[in-house]
Amino acid sequence: MSNKKVYKIAAIPGDGIGVDITEAAVQALDKLAETNGTFSFEYTTFDWSSKAYLERGWYMPPDWATQLRKHDAIYFGAVGWPSVPDHISLWQMILPIRQQMNQYVNVRPTRILRGTRAPVSQLQEKPSDLDWIIVRENSEGEYAGQGGTTHGHGPNAIATELAIFTRVGIERIMRFAFETAKSRPRKKLTMVTKSNAQRHGMVLWDTVFNDVAKEYEGVVEHDKMLVDAMTVRMVNKPETMDTIVATNLHADILSDLAAALAGSIGIAPSSNLDPTRENPSMFEPIHGSAPDIAGQGIANPVGAFWSAAEMVRWLGKGELDGVADQFMEAIENVMGDPKTRTRDMGGSASTTEVTKAVCDEIGRVC
Ligand code: ATP
Ligand code: MG
Repeated sequence: MSNKKVYKIAAIPGDGIGVDITEAAVQALDKLAETNGTFSFEYTTFDWSSKAYLERGWYMPPDWATQLRKHDAIYFGAVGWPSVPDHISLWQMILPIRQQMNQYVNVRPTRILRGTRAPVSQLQEKPSDLDWIIVRENSEGEYAGQGGTTHGHGPNAIATELAIFTRVGIERIMRFAFETAKSRPRKKLTMVTKSNAQRHGMVLWDTVFNDVAKEYEGVVEHDKMLVDAMTVRMVNKPETMDTIVATNLHADILSDLAAALAGSIGIAPSSNLDPTRENPSMFEPIHGSAPDIAGQGIANPVGAFWSAAEMVRWLGKGELDGVADQFMEAIENVMGDPKTRTRDMGGSASTTEVTKAVCDEIGRVC
């Protein structure tokens, strides 16, 4: 009898390259589990996608939340397809999951993996200058879905898009961000808003940030930035930041910029966390379904692997950190060889070739 820990994973490959990279992540996760021997994964795959929506008229069945709650974690590929407006696919699937599973934190680490070529010269010379964790508010703000349209989209159309900010929502994300900053060597937090122009919700962000900061005086160094100036600082002075906290919309944009600065949107991971652990958390690369390269077998699976490594870290509650680090080491060893990089990283390897190389490397490293 083995007393292996079995983790139940809800796998939602979704659309386009989401399918390829989820398959790649599952292969690497299984190889990791097999090599380590103390745990394994049991997957339920859900065919919730735009393709399915076009055929049957729905993305997820009415009892989707109950089905997901039977799992320890959710692994998500990507959703979205040109034949379905993006706001429909987002609001039919990803946003309801984040909101109803209480995944109020979205953590997006960015650093320059060994073997990755950064587009900015300072970072080519000193890759260690970019090592950030972006903490994105994931439950409210600009993506609260509040607002309305009158007079259709015609000449007299009026539309409102309300951002909702609550003290409870802001306070919990600030605490998470300060704790994240505290756990890292540099112990530094930068808070981003647009509180000069947006004078209600963003000013509340400033107030709550100041309040929570008092609890971390002398422990975490902190500063504030306006989002526009922040984009410049990320490019020109990457070494001056460590942990970054921002709203749903701002952090969405900043994390794409961060991924591009680190070499490719195809490598960046994200974790949608319910810190209370009452609901399963969800792990997904930050990129989308990439219809322009879908079906070609050339998607970079590294963002998917890195997301899977973060899932292992979360599931292990501290006990699998070493395993997640080994997984990352295997990924970086493979990136170190130009022959096993995909096109977006200047190579010509296929998704399958990179996946095989990473699985082989896991066998060696772990
Ligand atoms: P979303 O709205 O879901 O964020 P998006 O419209 O921003 O999606 P992506 O699907 O992320 O767009 O693609 C943006 C660009 O990056 C495309 O040119 C795509 O081919 C490329 N890209 C994204 N992910 C990868 C990947 N894993 N490997 C290689 N190229 C990628
Ligand atoms: Mg995008």
